[in-house]
Amino acid sequence: MSLTVVGSIAFDAVKTPFGERERMLGGAAVHFSLAASFFTEVRPVGPVGDDFGAAEFEVLESRGILTDDIERVEGGRSFFWRGRYGYDLSVAHTEDTQLGVFAEFEPKLSEGSKAADTLFLANIQPDLQRQVRSQCAARLSGLDSMNLWIETAKDSLRAAIAEVDCLLVNDAEIRQLTGESNLARAARAVMELGPCAVVAKQGEYGAALFTENGFFALPGFPLEDVRDPTGAGDSFAGGFFGYLDGHGGGLDEAHLRRAMGYGTVLASFASAARRSTSASRRCAG
Ligand code: AMP
Repeated sequence: MSLTVVGSIAFDAVKTPFGERERMLGGAAVHFSLAASFFTEVRPVGPVGDDFGAAEFEVLESRGILTDDIERVEGGRSFFWRGRYGYDLSVAHTEDTQLGVFAEFEPKLSEGSKAADTLFLANIQPDLQRQVRSQCAARLSGLDSMNLWIETAKDSLRAAIAEVDCLLVNDAEIRQLTGESNLARAARAVMELGPCAVVAKQGEYGAALFTENGFFALPGFPLEDVRDPTGAGDSFAGGFFGYLDGHGGGLDEAHLRRAMGYGTVLASFASAARRSTSASRRCAG
């Protein structure tokens, strides 16, 4: 089995109440690929600038991720995102987004990426998501997005959603996209567009899965020390779709529920700074 993903491949600057990092490897497709690599062969698709060097490729390749479809544009700059969190770490405030080489990107998938069994359209401009979707006839497909694209490219985003099996976005974004404040009704409205499954990510409260006849929810793993949640949502998606791809790509309830479990685990690793062991020591002692 194999999984192709398109999405931002980026550098991030992140500020939280606990500290600040000016430049670190990030991007939705990067976090997704790292998580999915625990389950299957992953091929990220997207451009990077010449600021994306051997060290960044090594992070991906050391996990067995196939980087042939990461196009290095000489003289270009990689996607850049600057974000800030307050004490509520579930809400990221975007301060700057620079598309860089993504502004001119015209995806041309290699034969290997076109032939993938599973396709994930991670967060990026919805027209790009659709261009990749049109080149890959994967059996299973999913999509993530965010408020920026709901606000600036809603029609294109709705068209992209209509072309996938599963939508996986934050609960606030499902409400914003559909104009429905009730999450169950909002998920139903998304399914009317085309997808047969909707996953609403709810930060530390976990994630909820809606299907035509089912509902399932899992809380987040209770971490005691979260310093920077950036990438947790993409890691959830990587665990979720990586598991599904690595186990036949079926979308039956049992598979989907298990995938929710793996998504939750991978998201917790992405957010964990350090987990206190004092409680377990007391219990063991
Ligand atoms: P999340 O998993 O939701 O925390 O996503 C975090 C990642 O999304 C960061 O590493 C950013 O580089 C990336 N990102 C932020 N804004 C955008 C955007 N408008 N389009 C694509 N990727 C983005």
